[in-house]
Amino acid sequence: MANLLNTFSKIVPIQPLKYLVGQKIIFPFYHSISDCPGPHLSQLGFSRNIQNFHSDIAFLLSHFEPVSLNGISEKTAKSRFHISFDDGLSDVYHNAIPFLIDNKLTATVFINSDFVDNKALFYRHKQSLIASQFEQEGILKKVSEVFSTSVENVMQKLMGLTYFETGKLDQIANHIGLDFDQFLKENQPYLTKIQLVEIENAGFVIGNHSRNHPNFNTLNFEEQKKQILETEDFIKANFHQTESVFSFPFGDENIKNELFSWIYEELKMKYTFGVSGIKEDDFERHLHRIPMEIGDDKGDSILKSQYLYYLFKMIPGKNRRKR
Ligand SMILES: [Zn+2]
Repeated sequence: MANLLNTFSKIVPIQPLKYLVGQKIIFPFYHSISDCPGPHLSQLGFSRNIQNFHSDIAFLLSHFEPVSLNGISEKTAKSRFHISFDDGLSDVYHNAIPFLIDNKLTATVFINSDFVDNKALFYRHKQSLIASQFEQEGILKKVSEVFSTSVENVMQKLMGLTYFETGKLDQIANHIGLDFDQFLKENQPYLTKIQLVEIENAGFVIGNHSRNHPNFNTLNFEEQKKQILETEDFIKANFHQTESVFSFPFGDENIKNELFSWIYEELKMKYTFGVSGIKEDDFERHLHRIPMEIGDDKGDSILKSQYLYYLFKMIPGKNRRKR
């Protein structure tokens, strides 16, 4: 079905789709904007090249109106869009922010407080960095020793490690002479506080993406709250945001209602964000976003696929997340 929608999306114009779906705010989102993603990203696929990013923005501007987070609740007959970036990567500062400013646009930049100023490396980025060393002679063999497995199984074992097995990634790095701290220092993959202040001064929103990016459905309620609160305190201490917003690391799959209620009622956050495309939600303040880093597909095709998918799900009523 996805393939069929994808093919159809290349020939159908956006206008009738917008008409059929009705007035919507869409939320395209990215992680990295780069023509040459670093080794911490190269094995993961969450990056968009600069030309595709520029084309995405041009397409959005020709069919939708940009809206700030504060403007979302305003009623209008226009279809609108708001862009965001997850994981606080520095290539966004270099390759996306200046272009957005030139086009008089702002966005929301979601950060993990542990990674700001390149103090720590996200465990998924550690996995990618290790995998990117496999081309070097003898590395694959060495990693297979740590897993006590054959070289054929190493990639699967490595990429299958979870947040709770970060220690294993450190052990592997040590075994192959890979220094994560040195990588952070030399490559500066994450945004710094100074860059974030500059971004904030240009009118962008700094949002919360948890302290160090665990999958929230593997944490208990107390751990979930701690992850959010620590980054919330960090944002409050360093920036001047008037509203708080949170995007779930790895999305909102199997997240219990008690966490949503706590976020809205106790923390008084304005919005939360997921990654399920175009979708309504029983929690009105939970907004679903469209992943835009789908290979080399053109932005118009990705967005039209999402509209078609939404229409397809309208009939069985599956385009709303029931809570
Ligand atoms: Zn993320």
